[in-house]
Amino acid sequence: MGYAKYFEDNQEIMLSRTEHKRNFNVSHVPVQHFVCPYCNLVEYSQEKLFEHIKNEHNITHPVIVVNGKVVNEAECSVAQIESLNIFTYGFADIIFLDDGVYSPTASESIDLTVKAKKLLDINGSFEISVGEKNLCIKKYSVKEVRDERITPIIREWEKAIVEGIMITMNLPSDLNEIEKEYLKGFYNYFLACISDGDDKKQRYYEAYTILQEFNPINSLGICVLKVIAFKFNWINSLLHLCEMAHDEFNAVCSFYMDGYKGKLDAIIIDYQNSLYIEDSIREHVDAISNFMFGNYVDVESYLSEINLEEVVDRNFKDRLLVLLRETSYASNNFRRARQYNDRILSPELIRK
Ligand SMILES: [Zn+2]
Repeated sequence: MGYAKYFEDNQEIMLSRTEHKRNFNVSHVPVQHFVCPYCNLVEYSQEKLFEHIKNEHNITHPVIVVNGKVVNEAECSVAQIESLNIFTYGFADIIFLDDGVYSPTASESIDLTVKAKKLLDINGSFEISVGEKNLCIKKYSVKEVRDERITPIIREWEKAIVEGIMITMNLPSDLNEIEKEYLKGFYNYFLACISDGDDKKQRYYEAYTILQEFNPINSLGICVLKVIAFKFNWINSLLHLCEMAHDEFNAVCSFYMDGYKGKLDAIIIDYQNSLYIEDSIREHVDAISNFMFGNYVDVESYLSEINLEEVVDRNFKDRLLVLLRETSYASNNFRRARQYNDRILSPELIRK
C-alpha cells in the first residue's frame, strides 16, 4: 500500500517554504487550464473548451459551471466563487443575475466570475436565471474547518480503506456544513483510490474540485490536491501546490522543472506524516524520487516491470515516457530521449 508524506505543522510549512525556495529556485509562470466538466479533458483556453463541449457533448440546454463543476441542481453552496461560467449554446439570449441582465452576444459563453464573487461577498447568496434554468448560489455560513473534528474522521476512513472496509458519509451531526463539504472531498478521494470502475476519474476530479475551494487548507488537503494534480499531469498546478507546502512532491517538481539536471544530493525532507495513496501513484513518485537522488538502479527496476505498450492510462503513459526520456538524457542517449519526448501527448510534459 502507498502513502504520501507531508508536513502537518504550519510553522514547518512556512520554514520549508523558505527552504524550498533556497533549494529549488522555483521560477515558473502558472498556466491556467480549463477542464471539461463532462469528460475532464484539459484545454488551455475558455474558447477551446467551449468548442470542445459543443462538438463532443450533446448539449440541449444552457449550462452553468460553478468552480469548474456543472451544476444541475436548483441550489448550490460554495465556500467562495473561483469561477462562474455560463454556456448558453444558443438556448438562451439573456442571463439574469441579481444585479442586472447580461447578454452573451460576443460568444455563446460568458464569464461572470467577477460579478458573482462580488454578489456572494455582499449578499451571501444570489440567483441566476438563464433560459429555463434557475440557480441559487449560497455561501457557507460557517467558515471554520476544525482540524480536531475533521482529521480523526479522515484517518478512520483511511484505516478502513487500507483494511478493505467500505466507507460511508454518515457524519457526526455536530459538524458544520463546510466541514461536511470538506470531508466530502476526502470521501471522494478515498473512493477514487480503490475504484476500478468508470467513476474513478470522476471521483478524483470531484475531490480536487471540492478541496481546491478551501484555500488555504490543511496539509492533508494540500497533499490530496498534489496527488491528483500528479495523476492527471497538471504539472503547473502541482508546482503551485508545492510552493504552499514542502514534502516529497518537491523532488517530483524538481524533476518536471529541470529533469535530470535538477538532481538532488540530499534528502532535506523530514518525513513526519503520510496520506494513503494508490500503489501505482506511490510507486511512480518513488521512482521519480529515486531518479532525483541518483538511485538509477531502482528506477530501472521500476521501469523494467512495466510494459509501456500495454499501458492504457494516457496520463500514466506520458509520465512513464518522461521518466524514460530523462533516464535517456542522464545516460547521454539524446536521440532516444528525443524519441520518447516525441511520443508524449500531455502539453505540460513535453520538453520544447
Ligand atoms: Zn468533454
